Amino acid sequence: MIGQRHRHLHIDGRWQPADSQEKLDLIDPATEQWVASAPDGNAADVATAAAAARRALPGWSEAPPEDRADLIAALADGFDERREEFARLVTAQNGAVISRSRRTNGTRPVALYRHHSEVARAFEPEMVDTAGREILRREPIGVVGIIIPWNAPQSLLAHKLAPALAAGCTVVVKPAQETPLDSLRIAELAATVGFPPGVINVVTGGRATGAAIVDEPDIDMVSFTGSTGAGRAIASRAGRLLKPVVAELGGKSAAVLLDDADLELFSERLIATCLPNTGQVCYSCTRVVAPRERFDEVLAVVTSTLAAAKVGDPLDPATTFGPLVSAAQRDRVQGYIESAHSEGAKVVLGGKRPTTTPAGYYVEPTVIIDVNHSMRVFREEIFGPVLVVVPHDGDADAVRIANDSSFGLGGAVFGVDVERSTEVARRMQTGRISINGEAHSVSAPSQGFKDSGIGGSIDLHSHLQVKSIARFPS
Ligand code: NAD
Repeated sequence: MIGQRHRHLHIDGRWQPADSQEKLDLIDPATEQWVASAPDGNAADVATAAAAARRALPGWSEAPPEDRADLIAALADGFDERREEFARLVTAQNGAVISRSRRTNGTRPVALYRHHSEVARAFEPEMVDTAGREILRREPIGVVGIIIPWNAPQSLLAHKLAPALAAGCTVVVKPAQETPLDSLRIAELAATVGFPPGVINVVTGGRATGAAIVDEPDIDMVSFTGSTGAGRAIASRAGRLLKPVVAELGGKSAAVLLDDADLELFSERLIATCLPNTGQVCYSCTRVVAPRERFDEVLAVVTSTLAAAKVGDPLDPATTFGPLVSAAQRDRVQGYIESAHSEGAKVVLGGKRPTTTPAGYYVEPTVIIDVNHSMRVFREEIFGPVLVVVPHDGDADAVRIANDSSFGLGGAVFGVDVERSTEVARRMQTGRISINGEAHSVSAPSQGFKDSGIGGSIDLHSHLQVKSIARFPS
């Protein structure tokens, strides 16, 4: 797919020429070279895809759950064989370091499809009360419009697509303008493994294509992952149309270190917890909240760990920090670093473009201190390799600082006493927390609190509506 000028979308189980003549030019963030182009789909393309999804709906939603389960499992197997291809295809578009892309665009989607294949197999759509009078029936919502961002596109897609398919919904996918190719590829793969035409359709494009998904009458529900700003626009549009929305949005999460935190363990888990994917992950814990009495010690661990990490070619398995996704994102991140300087904070590591990378949208891993809680670098999602370290005066103060945010997406607590750490986690207003860097299972729900979202798509029930049938005994 690399090096090609794609003029087709994947709709109704086959490649079809796009109605739109506009295109998205993809640039490799590491080299600034042209990668490929894809159609910038218009409202007519969305309508064609939605009509195909609508036609496919009765057959798919009424198919025995085990048939759906078998096809989702076949998609998992097909993906598994092409994991490396997907990981590289994503990295060529978004610059994600390959060691991480192999997980988020390789093994994790496979695990998500496998998990939801089992969920589909076990799904019982009807429950009848003991007297046989009342039936509770769960039916698929219908055609789901899936809109995703670029940062881990195949995990984020599987996170929405797998449960939608398991529930019996058909879908129209709108990938991010930065990463259209891997979504087109998965639609092609789904057709190859036997999905009926129209169950999975992909229309590539930008914001206007996303807006057309929301407005399209043949789309019954919108499942969105992306920024809080776009989430607000989408949810208000969908609200007017009374269309159900799942919105998985931005974050500004906190990693709280308690006074007994094991700093060696924290150092090992620091990058995965605080700046994964060069800080371009919604769950990044970019506010490190450290005990005041151990502040210097924590800061030394943070700066030495980040200073030792390799910045450079994302295809090199030894690289930890790659480029940012685009020139615009790099400039945005640098704007935040400038704001820290002008608001009186102190940049103690990084802050500039690295001198070792002649091309590409790189920013050095950056650590900022002397931050007060009204500064932009404390309050706003930066989505780059930038974190702040702030002091706390005990567990209650740490919770107060962590909760001093309009967001509530992720979070972490580091402490040797796991029960005490869990108690702190219970008091943090956020949807997903890890203790000592423990990873969540593939079936763990993820739901944003506050401005981080509405609902969560990984749950099968988000894609179902409930009908109750009361029967007069005959
Ligand atoms: P973005 O909001 O700019 O775009 C996301 C997707 O929405 C893209 O496909 C885009 O074309 C589309 N879009 C944008 N505006 C739209 C509109 N008004 N109507 C319809 N569609 C629209 O986000 P991004 O820069 O691609 O991704 C980064 C953001 O995503 C960050 O804020 C990050 O925290 C968030 N994110 C959240 C999660 C989560 O699970 N909560 C996961 C990954 C990323």
